[in-house]
Amino acid sequence: MHRFDEQMGREAVDAVLSYAARRLRLDPAPLDGPLTPGEIADAAGPTITPGGLGLTAALEVYGDVLAPACLTTDHPRYLSFIPCAPTVEAAAFDVVVGSSSIYGGSWLEGAGAIHAENEALRWIADLVGMPASAGGVFVPGGTIGNLSALVAARHTARANAAPGTPRPWRVAATYGSHSSIQSALDVMDGEVVPVPVDERWRLTGPALRAVLEANDPATFFAVVATCGTTNFGIVDDLASVAEVCREYGLWFHVDGAYGGAGLAAPSVRPLYAGVEYADSFIVDPHKWLFAPFDCCALIYRDPATAQAAHTQKAGYLDVLTDAPQWNPTDYSVGLTRRARGLPLWFSLAVYGTDAYVRGIERTLEVAAFAEAEITRRPYTELLRERDLSVVVFRRIGWGPQDYHEWSNALLADEFAFVVPTVHDGETVTRFAVVNPRTTEADISAILDTMA
Ligand SMILES: *Cc1c(COP(=O)(O)O)cnc(C)c1O
Repeated sequence: MHRFDEQMGREAVDAVLSYAARRLRLDPAPLDGPLTPGEIADAAGPTITPGGLGLTAALEVYGDVLAPACLTTDHPRYLSFIPCAPTVEAAAFDVVVGSSSIYGGSWLEGAGAIHAENEALRWIADLVGMPASAGGVFVPGGTIGNLSALVAARHTARANAAPGTPRPWRVAATYGSHSSIQSALDVMDGEVVPVPVDERWRLTGPALRAVLEANDPATFFAVVATCGTTNFGIVDDLASVAEVCREYGLWFHVDGAYGGAGLAAPSVRPLYAGVEYADSFIVDPHKWLFAPFDCCALIYRDPATAQAAHTQKAGYLDVLTDAPQWNPTDYSVGLTRRARGLPLWFSLAVYGTDAYVRGIERTLEVAAFAEAEITRRPYTELLRERDLSVVVFRRIGWGPQDYHEWSNALLADEFAFVVPTVHDGETVTRFAVVNPRTTEADISAILDTMA
């Protein structure tokens, strides 16, 4: 199977790469939509067989049955959750990464790739305002990024805890923080202590101080602030939170999985004041930085703390861990890693960072348009003024059933993907605009369907 047969090898490479090329050139690709398990099984037939389907049939079943049963997350009217809108360069370069058998965990094995990834990480660290000594790693997503950062935070706090004091196990965060924070603390057998938000629904220093004082500050090892909550795109008051973290000697983690990209946009950059004090920071380039899945940049102010927490030790790894070079795998949960930062790096290298600034500003323009339209139309109303590129709104007079039926119909028509969300028990809906190809006309056309 692995022996390279001149003709078979060429056929497989040509067929698969030309499929990828056709897919990359679709503009726009159809939205597509899910089928039931039975529908897919019937249409695909058995695919794993003792004799194999052969190249042509396997590719056909993928292209004709399986691929159309997957939503196109970079469709301009896919506005649910947080979409993914890679540049064509980033998406195409993922094919190169996949075809190059690169091990991205250690400098010894992946030096060239790791150099490139670190350049991309440095751009992000500079946007945050972190010192030259900062560093990190690209991990699969914000969930693993948050978990890895919090494991490093706890390791550091426990190493520094005075003898005889409790080993801290708590994290302070708001209800608006992402579900992955609770998930991380579940994995770590820790606890999230909720902090009430201010009138703008933000985490602030004074509220944080009150919660710490009411719960014994020594039991906490970190505070999680969010710059761009998932549901509303809210940026917490990072400066006042940072100050309280400093006062109590607590690790300050900033979750910018979605909103971190806004650091590059001058029009919203002032919202992030204080982010430069973060001990750890994450942003998902697969969200608003135009990279394909799966990609989260995780950066530490002092990488040595993370290295101490995460380096795996074993005789078969000594040759790597004893070396002085940068081994990305030592900075997160996980060992084997794909050089998943390369598609972002390639696209950044091709376009330059100014193009990213323009791309992000463009999505903010469209989000501002959506906000104005929702305010202007008599049948829609905003829940909260937007900070970034997420706009949450209600259709006046609708109940949960109306939202679900409307959303299902949009998808059934392959017109748009806009799902309901819930805030304070009320079903509403939202637009998350991270795709520079989403236009004002797309927004208007979707709002028209609610009239
Ligand atoms: C999306 C998101 C996460 C989780 O990221 P994944 O890449 O989905 O694991 C964490 N925090 C915030 C604020 C997010 O928006």
